[in-house]
Amino acid sequence: MTAASDHIIGRFAPSPSGALHFGSLLAALASFLDIRARGGQWLLRMEDLDPAREPAGAADQILFLLEDLCLTWDGPVLYQSQRLDAYEAALTALTKQDLTYPCDCSRQRIRALGGIYDNHCRDRPAPPPGNSAIRFKVPDQTVVIEDRIQGPYRQHLQHDCGDFVLRRRDGLIAYQLAVVVDDQWQGVTDILRGHDLLDSTPRQLTLQRALGYSQPVYAHIPVATNHRGQKLSKQHFARPLRRDSASEYLYQALVFLRQRPPASLRQAPPAEQVTWAIAHWDIQHVPKLATIPVTSPFS
Ligand code: GLU
Ligand code: ZN
Repeated sequence: MTAASDHIIGRFAPSPSGALHFGSLLAALASFLDIRARGGQWLLRMEDLDPAREPAGAADQILFLLEDLCLTWDGPVLYQSQRLDAYEAALTALTKQDLTYPCDCSRQRIRALGGIYDNHCRDRPAPPPGNSAIRFKVPDQTVVIEDRIQGPYRQHLQHDCGDFVLRRRDGLIAYQLAVVVDDQWQGVTDILRGHDLLDSTPRQLTLQRALGYSQPVYAHIPVATNHRGQKLSKQHFARPLRRDSASEYLYQALVFLRQRPPASLRQAPPAEQVTWAIAHWDIQHVPKLATIPVTSPFS
């Protein structure tokens, strides 16, 4: 391993909406290896901004499982539920630049637009306070990202996404805002996560620019799907990981990431597997794919 470089900082940022499944383990492991192989710091952040979707104990279950997997993080866990003032401050900063507006479009109207908001409320007189979402005015330009795994990725925010929500009508801070505020605050330099978040990255980049933040480097790994091509997720009944099978999960995750673990590593204790994987990590071997199907026992 190279000398410790404190300036490389990565993170795993699970939403505690249920137990970890194989899909979330992949993101945790790959990010961990990519940072540890370069002697950087790896932080943990609980994205717990939506209490109605967070079963009691889920956040702790995630921590226990990461410990069983020997994916040790640095420093205290950051809980987004403790960071509401910081998100409000960022919203205020954007509003001062005239980059936000309230939107009281109904759910039905937004659903009928099919995912791309038409900026309907941008130039309307502001609705009475309360009961409105806050949207960000996206610039009329193409954003290009150079992803370390997926290569160049481009999006024209006005055509492909439209003005997006920063704070929901019910007051919850949107993921897109919270994630950039915290990545900046935690000094994150390297983000590695699932391909399902690639299309969020241009929004995050645009917010970083508007807020004067520094810009991390991005890498998006393929997402594990079930045999129907659906992303493993709680909605699609991905099996929760069991605490007694850490070695099997780590081995299968290394196979998925095409790190070519030797067969002898399959039964090794997690600490040994992780040590091997840090020493042999090669991001170039990760397939440049959006999805890869996996079979039971994971889906
Ligand atoms: N909390 C997000 C999720 O679980 C991940 C956020 C991120 O890595 O940017 O999907
Ligand atoms: Zn609206």
